[in-house]
Amino acid sequence: MKPAIATINSAALRHNIQLIKSFAPNQKLLAMIKANAYGQGLLPAAHILADQVDGFGVARLREALEIQETGYTGKILLVEGFFDREELLKTLSRRFDSVIHCYEQLELLEQVAKEWEEEQQKGFWKRKTKIYFPINVWLKIDTGMHRLGVHSEQVDEFYQRLKKCPLVENISFVSHFSRADELDCGYTEKQIATFEQATQAYPEHARSISASSGILYWKQAHYEWVRPGIIMHGISPHYEPITHLGFQPVMTLSSSLIAVRTHKAGEPVGYGGTWVSSKETKLGVIAMGYGDGYPRNAPEGTPVLINGRKVPIIGRVSMDMLTVDLGANSQDRVGDEAIFWGKDLLIEEVAKHIGVISYELITKLTPRVIFEYK
Ligand SMILES: *Cc1c(COP(=O)(O)O)cnc(C)c1O
Repeated sequence: MKPAIATINSAALRHNIQLIKSFAPNQKLLAMIKANAYGQGLLPAAHILADQVDGFGVARLREALEIQETGYTGKILLVEGFFDREELLKTLSRRFDSVIHCYEQLELLEQVAKEWEEEQQKGFWKRKTKIYFPINVWLKIDTGMHRLGVHSEQVDEFYQRLKKCPLVENISFVSHFSRADELDCGYTEKQIATFEQATQAYPEHARSISASSGILYWKQAHYEWVRPGIIMHGISPHYEPITHLGFQPVMTLSSSLIAVRTHKAGEPVGYGGTWVSSKETKLGVIAMGYGDGYPRNAPEGTPVLINGRKVPIIGRVSMDMLTVDLGANSQDRVGDEAIFWGKDLLIEEVAKHIGVISYELITKLTPRVIFEYK
């Protein structure tokens, strides 16, 4: 009998990458594998994807270091850039690509470049063994998300200063959509216009604005680099599944029934006794709880797939277990598999039921879940 298991279908992951390439055939792919590759396992995901994509994007330096330590020599972009001087020095010595989104980062880079030049001039015998390389910088422009990025009118100042900086090899422009999944809201068109206007003076430099929704719905905004995240895993960036487009769910989250019990009418179940059966039934207890990352706030009725049927969660989700109503006539037995999401129960349906986004469901799985890569 198996406890909480996330089975990762690497063929589906590769298939999704090929499909993404058909959506963006002339673009380079920066696979976003931040947050432990969306909870799927950073290094296994990097390993599967390494020869399929043109680089990786992560949000924390540690993830970039881990990927490089496996021997990967390709591009790794820090999408929020370096957070302090120490991180910048590592970024330079490891030659990661870095976003620059604010003055503090620009000034730190200029400062380190100045010290580096001075040291170089001291001559060989006095030089400390600091090996830095000029890095590729992605200047982040705020086109309407209003979270990170420089304003349009600051772009030229940043550009000129980066251009002068001896630790900068190449400059690209990057931005991010805030409402690309709302096709008719009119906001994305504005962001595209702002991005084009802000970058038009530098036509020789690469640009990137599209994540999953941009790849699927905003072909005019693919530019040179696209940055797929959630769709690589076969999961929609919103609540409507994308399997009809050919995407295949990569993860199956499952566990087993550890008890099947008859339950009398009128008896409550679980902490707080929040659910009381109106009739006699059979309850299934499954080894999956919030200690595995399944949300405690999953409401009654959230579906679980057992022997091909969707059965409802009842009562509160506990740390190590949850309960489902199997129905009075159920033939399910201890040891039978319970699927929480996968190709036959799409995560989008579960996410909608719980009132979270699929991104949150997959990134919150805990280390107790066993990952198996097929
Ligand atoms: C996470 C992230 C992405 C990928 O987003 P998805 O919606 O998962 O495709 C792209 N770009 C940046 C900067 C990100 O942080």
